[in-house]
Amino acid sequence: MNYDVIVVGAGVVGALTARELARYELKVLVLEAEADAAMGATKANSAIVHGGFAEGSDTLKGRLCVLGRRKFASLEAELNFGFRTTGSLVLGFSGSGERLQALYEKGLANGVTDLELWSGQQVRAHEPAVNPEVEGALWCAGAGVCSPWDLALAALENAMAHGVEVKLNQPVTAVARPEPGAWRLSTPKDSYNTRFVVNCAGLGGGHLDALAGLYDSALTPRSGEYLVFAQGTGSLVNSVLFQLPGPLGKGVLVGPTYQGNLLVGPDARNEDSGRHTHTDRLRAIVEQANRVVSGIDLKKAIRSFTGVRSMAPGGDFLVGPANSQTHQGWLRAVGIQSPGLTASPALAELLVTNLAQEGLGLVPRAGFDPTRRALPVHLSRRPAPLSFAQAESLTKLEPGNPERMVCRCEQVRECDLAEAFSRGVPVCTVDGLKRRTRAGMGWCQGKFCRPRVALWLQEQLGTPVEPVEEAQRSGLHRVQGRDFLGLRPPSDQGRAQ
Ligand SMILES: Cc1cc2nc3c(=O)[nH]c(=O)nc-3n(C[C@H](O)[C@H](O)[C@H](O)COP(=O)(O)OP(=O)(O)OC[C@H]3O[C@@H](n4cnc5c(N)ncnc54)[C@H](O)[C@@H]3O)c2cc1C
Repeated sequence: MNYDVIVVGAGVVGALTARELARYELKVLVLEAEADAAMGATKANSAIVHGGFAEGSDTLKGRLCVLGRRKFASLEAELNFGFRTTGSLVLGFSGSGERLQALYEKGLANGVTDLELWSGQQVRAHEPAVNPEVEGALWCAGAGVCSPWDLALAALENAMAHGVEVKLNQPVTAVARPEPGAWRLSTPKDSYNTRFVVNCAGLGGGHLDALAGLYDSALTPRSGEYLVFAQGTGSLVNSVLFQLPGPLGKGVLVGPTYQGNLLVGPDARNEDSGRHTHTDRLRAIVEQANRVVSGIDLKKAIRSFTGVRSMAPGGDFLVGPANSQTHQGWLRAVGIQSPGLTASPALAELLVTNLAQEGLGLVPRAGFDPTRRALPVHLSRRPAPLSFAQAESLTKLEPGNPERMVCRCEQVRECDLAEAFSRGVPVCTVDGLKRRTRAGMGWCQGKFCRPRVALWLQEQLGTPVEPVEEAQRSGLHRVQGRDFLGLRPPSDQGRAQ
């Protein structure tokens, strides 16, 4: 099969790149190793649309962060993936005035226009829960939070509506050059010929480059752990609260998610800890978060998770043609650590510009429609919550009734599952439906709904579906349930909850 461009990896960078390519009369394929899109770093991160002041304009990640951030409002208007502006604060304690000032100036040099230095009093007026010892902060009005996997899925849905093909469960395992000007990518299922390859394989990007004979992109994994709290807890804060950045990144933040959960984390360790979570790391995260705000209630913690950043040599993004002489037609976007989500719309545009410079003809597709309808999970479509008793009574409806409530905690009905199932990237796992509908993301973490969702999906697919989470299947050990209470600092642990 012959394509103009194959994008390897259906994370946010690959998905948005595929969507940019869909604007042109091209034959485009996305190959993804996993059973769903957005299964790498795109699934597990802080989901912040950063202001663009933390990285310098002498880095690609700094420049693309500022450019990418500016595109989020229009992207949201087109794709309805879930983005809202919250503003962010970098909090300064005693003696940090100079460092806040330096960040402010870096932001100005980057072209960021919505920054202000705030006094401690201004901070507390905006964020009543913040530590009274905070002496000042850098405020960025336009920073926000989004739903990263929805962004990737929405971009792919929009790309697929214009002929882009997406093949899941197809890891690229071999790369060949059948003739000059062509590449052949093989997966365990098939082989595909193409003129151009864009390596957006995240943490797998170094290995993919090596399959093509490129050895300059060995990536270092850097893991970060988080705690998520029940829906509604995000109202503890009004904006995203950072501490001053350290040598390993932006540090532990406290912020709301797009859907209104409280999120605390991440830490940073130069290792891929297998995506397990650890009591000692989470305890240190909670301690740092408690330094920022009071009122974090561990009784309301519902989940821990780990995300893994990929760090390229030198620490910057590695983007563009690999080597136009020896590897004509091979492009990449690897080492896309934070702020890669924020930068992703700009990264996608840059990659398409690079492809054109490398010889890809770009004939605009007549009738390209950049819009994609929101899923029921989007805040614009979520109905006012029912009482638990009302939701419970809807669970008693017969299977097959679109109004039957499948997930009580997040109030997901059969018709919501059906809509998510029928859109864009095929869904073949319980977790795929969870990401698209939130069934299983609530208080009970799927205990009630997972078997019901699995049965529903089984009916649609006509094949057995195990009521098991990806994390369980892959043997992940995650701190959960009652163990969250053990994350209190030792001094607190004797107190009644
Ligand atoms: C802890 C953490 C916190 C972060 N916080 C933020 C934040 O708040 N704001 C922000 O802007 N950025 C943040 N980031 C960065 C952001 O998440 C990433 O930059 C972004 O998700 C990278 O997307 P990607 O598409 O490059 O990679 P990924 O999402 O990792 O996608 C790569 C895809 O390639 C697939 N793949 C790999 N190998 C192969 C192969 N051989 N064949 C086929 N497919 C393959 C994988 O399965 C995966 O789906 C954070 C990252 C982490 C880990």
